[in-house]
Amino acid sequence: MESLWYKNAIVYVLDVETFMDSNGDGIGDFPGLTQRLDYLSGLGITCLWLHPFYPSPNRDDGYDVMDYYGVDPCLGTLGDFVEFMHACKERGIRVLIDLVVNHTSIQHPWFQAARSDRHSKYRDYYIWSDDPPPTDPAELVFPDVEDSIWEYDEQAGAYYLHHFYKEQPDLNISNPVVRDEIRKIIHFWLQLGVSGFRVDAVPYFVKNVEGLVEQYELESFLEDLRCYVSSWSAEAVLLAEANVESESFSMYFGDGNRMHMLFSFFANQKKFLALARQDATPLIEGLRQLPHLPRSGQWLNFVRHHDELTLDQLGDAERDEVFHAFAPEANMQIYGRGIRRRLPPMLNSNRRHIELVYSLLFTLPGIPLLRYGDEIGMGDDLSLPDRDSVRTPMQWSDEPNGGFSSAAHDRLAKPVISEGDYSYKRVNVAAQQPDPNSLLNWMSQVIRMRRQCPEFGWGDWDIIETDEPCVFAHRCQWRGKALIAVHNLANRACTVTLKSNPLNQLVDLFGNCASPTPTECQGERYYRPLSGSQPISLEPYGYRWFRVEAKSD
Ligand code: MG
Repeated sequence: MESLWYKNAIVYVLDVETFMDSNGDGIGDFPGLTQRLDYLSGLGITCLWLHPFYPSPNRDDGYDVMDYYGVDPCLGTLGDFVEFMHACKERGIRVLIDLVVNHTSIQHPWFQAARSDRHSKYRDYYIWSDDPPPTDPAELVFPDVEDSIWEYDEQAGAYYLHHFYKEQPDLNISNPVVRDEIRKIIHFWLQLGVSGFRVDAVPYFVKNVEGLVEQYELESFLEDLRCYVSSWSAEAVLLAEANVESESFSMYFGDGNRMHMLFSFFANQKKFLALARQDATPLIEGLRQLPHLPRSGQWLNFVRHHDELTLDQLGDAERDEVFHAFAPEANMQIYGRGIRRRLPPMLNSNRRHIELVYSLLFTLPGIPLLRYGDEIGMGDDLSLPDRDSVRTPMQWSDEPNGGFSSAAHDRLAKPVISEGDYSYKRVNVAAQQPDPNSLLNWMSQVIRMRRQCPEFGWGDWDIIETDEPCVFAHRCQWRGKALIAVHNLANRACTVTLKSNPLNQLVDLFGNCASPTPTECQGERYYRPLSGSQPISLEPYGYRWFRVEAKSD
């Protein structure tokens, strides 16, 4: 029987390299992360997702792996990893890690052997051609850097396939020996205690290269992966990075026999269009296109993660609307399809607006993903190239390097933000911890409340119609209990009537509505319950979470 713990998890993602440096070499490391686990535990998160920490030449921020069975020496040792896992277990925090098996680094011993000998057993680990077909630009992951998915290798005397950077040759998944290698990698890390994998670049696994590799269906590979994890651990999950069209979602989940979770790329793009328009309609339309999930299926919602905030599934005019609202300058955009900013600068530091977006994150059907620094409102550094703008080190205090590292600042793996409104001198954990009104303390509160509202993770959901287009209202029901969340996407106050809740009353759980007067306090409840048919008042960017209770009178 599979464990479904992830259906109601609070996930936090970080890169060991930029979180906390314990030895003063300018690079975050596992001992540093382990020291900060009590901070994460106090925040209330229940699951960590770590970006790749394997030995890597770092052409693609660790997504180019040289050794699947190790820890990059800059980040610590395998022993440090095991101590970290033990410390997580003591605090009840589960760990997901990245499984990056669409490609290896060009420096992986498999590729080195494959390129140097046409008859090597590793040759078929990769995909070769003497005369490759022309590249369709849509196949390029990094269109501003690469112009072909084929690279000629002198040593090999042939072209090899690479959808990502040319330093990342694609593995040949149709080769059963490669699949067996993947199975062993999965079992190795499960044995060390991880609770599952964020599976990188899933749609690229099966190559559209007729005649060069055996035909092998993506469906079969997803089922193989599920089989590999489930055969070893009943609690292990697979979280797929698959930014695909809504028609394909059901294929990824299968009949509960493929991926457990998908990132909600599609709904996220619709959400940002709705935020840009201050109109809930695009979000509602997006959610209505989601399929009914198998019991073990779940969505991982996010605001943004380490890559660009992609808008590639919007129409050109829609994408321009979002750019216009949140990333108007060319330097804020990337690859013609996404935004390379963090949320607070996108929203001009408007606290109400920021809270609204995170309140949506915590209530939309599925589970929430926070990225390190979200909880304190970290900004970006647009002077850094590409996606590095949003990959700056965690800001712990106003000490040099934001308390991230004691190294000289020019030795840091990535520069800290040291100037402007988002400088570590202004935005840091130490300053926000004692401040009851800080974003950090709001984030702790919303996480605590979200953990008391399992209906958002487990429940069936439906959208409630209202008389205000700027308001998104939905209900989640589970085991006879129900919650309603109401979000005003507009920068103006409004009063809204829910069209389908007349017989119940609503008890306020959480929100940013005007404070009730003391006479309204009723024992442990903060607000007088609303009758379901009573209008709900919402401030600009207002949000309210309610528990639905049967009318007592
Ligand atoms: Mg270090």
